[in-house]
Amino acid sequence: MRRFRSTFLSLLFLMLFLVPQAGMAALNDNKSGTSPAPAIASLKTTALAQTKLSGSNQLINVRWLVHKDAVEGTSKLRLVIDTKDAVKVSSKLDGTTGSQLVVDINGAAVGNVNNLVNLDGKIADKVRFIKKDNSNSQVIVDLSTMIEDSDYKVFTLKSDAINNKTFRVVIDVNQVVPKVEYNFTAGLRNKVIAIDPGHGGSDPGAIGPNKLQEKTVTLAVAQRVQALLEKAGAKVLMTRKTDVDVFGPNASAVDELNARTLGANNNKADVFVSLHINAFTSPSVGGTATYYYQKSNYDILLANCIQDNLVKTGGLQDRGINAAGFYVIKKTKMPSVLAELGFISNPDEEKLLSTPQFQQKLAQGIVQGLDDFFVQAAKRGGGL
Ligand SMILES: [Zn+2]
Repeated sequence: MRRFRSTFLSLLFLMLFLVPQAGMAALNDNKSGTSPAPAIASLKTTALAQTKLSGSNQLINVRWLVHKDAVEGTSKLRLVIDTKDAVKVSSKLDGTTGSQLVVDINGAAVGNVNNLVNLDGKIADKVRFIKKDNSNSQVIVDLSTMIEDSDYKVFTLKSDAINNKTFRVVIDVNQVVPKVEYNFTAGLRNKVIAIDPGHGGSDPGAIGPNKLQEKTVTLAVAQRVQALLEKAGAKVLMTRKTDVDVFGPNASAVDELNARTLGANNNKADVFVSLHINAFTSPSVGGTATYYYQKSNYDILLANCIQDNLVKTGGLQDRGINAAGFYVIKKTKMPSVLAELGFISNPDEEKLLSTPQFQQKLAQGIVQGLDDFFVQAAKRGGGL
């Protein structure tokens, strides 16, 4: 350990004083690691620390750009990593949160210094370069929102002598939904809250052992949530108010789901709450769970507030909050959650879910959760 340290220190000394250019690269890189980069209109270059690896392949520098599509309003992040020689790349999203993109670069070293490049936070917060060994490195992109496999691309480009370009690794990440500015204040008065009772009309959703239909319970709870929220002075947008298909019978799944998110997006709802009832093959499984899709700093907070209060008032097993890519919570621009209130496949819970008393308890939990959310969001500053 000590021997490694002294070798490291003399190498650092060499870099700082005997190899002026490499020393500057290291200093620049440290600087970029502590101050956030401003929004840019052109590619930004951050030199990576360079070590003398006598001819072996290595990463040379990284450039990045956030491009905004003027028509669609969506943005794309492009990261370009120059390498001295050809490399092989493989990539994957971090399975638990989907908000970390991990790219393995095989055949190029990153150097002795772990590098950190701060981005503008629009699509990603930072990029970390991790040394795996002397000829392999790893790039971790910390994204500001969750993405899915279809939202990013990683590929390599050959050197281009005519245009004076070396080998490159390109990482493209699409922004899932355009970001909105928030200004959350405490209290439910004047808030615009979208409530989405799952299923409806030709789509019953899950059906219990005693034939209770999911669409009936979600609508009953939603109507009670609406009444409580309106009493508290909030404006409620219901994706459906009766037992109907939201888009229309025989609609495609995407049309149906788009219809559910459209009203919330167009009317600039503050939050979106989708209500569903779970089902499972084993009748003994039960409990309440809430799902979020992390598009902002507030989705997890909203999920926690709703889940905590649903468990408090409903008293079912706490199955916690989970990240998930459900369409309605991914495509709504505002913080949104999908709550699975209970299990219709569990006979005890099916019975409870059919009673007005229990439906009212769930509605009270959701409304208290929304109230808690606005209080806590305001405490966090209320903005992005
Ligand atoms: Zn459902």
